[in-house]
Amino acid sequence: MRYAKLAKADLPKLFQSLKSRGEVFAPVEEGGKVTFRKVDDLKEVKLEYTRTLLPPKKLLLPPEEEILRYEGEEYRESFEGKKAVLFGVHHCDVNGLLKLDRVFLDSPRDEYYARRRENTLVVGISCVPDRYCFCTSVGSGYATTGFDLFLHDLGREYLVRVGSGEGYRLSKEGYFQEAGKKEVEQAARMEERRMGKVRRRINLAGMGDLIETEGKEGWEEVSAKCLACGTCNLVCPTCQCYDVSDLLTLDVRKGSRVRRWDSCMLKRHALVAGGLNFRPTVVERTVNRLSCKVGEEVRCVGCGRCTVYCPAGIDFVEMLSAVRGEAR
Ligand code: SF4
Ligand code: SF4
Repeated sequence: MRYAKLAKADLPKLFQSLKSRGEVFAPVEEGGKVTFRKVDDLKEVKLEYTRTLLPPKKLLLPPEEEILRYEGEEYRESFEGKKAVLFGVHHCDVNGLLKLDRVFLDSPRDEYYARRRENTLVVGISCVPDRYCFCTSVGSGYATTGFDLFLHDLGREYLVRVGSGEGYRLSKEGYFQEAGKKEVEQAARMEERRMGKVRRRINLAGMGDLIETEGKEGWEEVSAKCLACGTCNLVCPTCQCYDVSDLLTLDVRKGSRVRRWDSCMLKRHALVAGGLNFRPTVVERTVNRLSCKVGEEVRCVGCGRCTVYCPAGIDFVEMLSAVRGEAR
């Protein structure tokens, strides 16, 4: 990996260079929440933040998108090839994008996601953890790949890790300087301190088996407060379910096909033709959600969003502790 240094006074130069590559989306504080949105000026960007409401996933897999349009026998797929930059992405969210890559870039490749991913430059930045973060327990506390550049705050400058060819070309621009062992060590100490602030821990040893063998009573207790609203899925950086529907004109000659995020916690998610619902209860949907996140494979990146934004105050980590028999 190549390492470079960037003086904070030169950050506007990097920002201008990123802008010349495409639309820049970055964390912005609005109404007390931080959210990724298009920015034109570095002054709009909130560089130090804990978590955004929706993860940056929303720019690669939009909550709603038209995927094709048709008229009679003709159809045209709606691929987007616009260049974009995701600026200020945290370690956990970079790792969240890598988990989505495994779903959407492996065969069968999802062209809509793939084209956006290829056209999007990712610039990471270190975070400010709070009491809901548990990224270090799920191996997502530090991003080693999945970005073009990653900025580590060293006070008056950033250590910049370069993660791609495009990042390499950027790091060769005149305002970057070479970085050596001293800065890398400094950044490693800083990252150790940052990760030390992630106090929340979950024990995932045998969790897949514990989920499988938990009894009905236990699951009823774990999911008792759940409103089945689906918020936990919508804010999750690794939830990937979507629904596809056709919007037709009355004469059914013209139409468009749209896909929208879906949520496995909603009752209709498992409703199939003939009216059969293979996960009709909240208990069954909770088991499914936990199995998906921390069952055979760990798909949770420990961002804490599902706990912070659950309207019923359900804590993801406490749910798992209950399944382990620790919180009863
Ligand atoms: S956000 Fe909370 S209440 Fe809503 S479905 Fe998820 S766990 Fe249930
Ligand atoms: S399950 Fe919850 S904590 Fe884990 S990645 Fe999804 S939103 Fe974040």
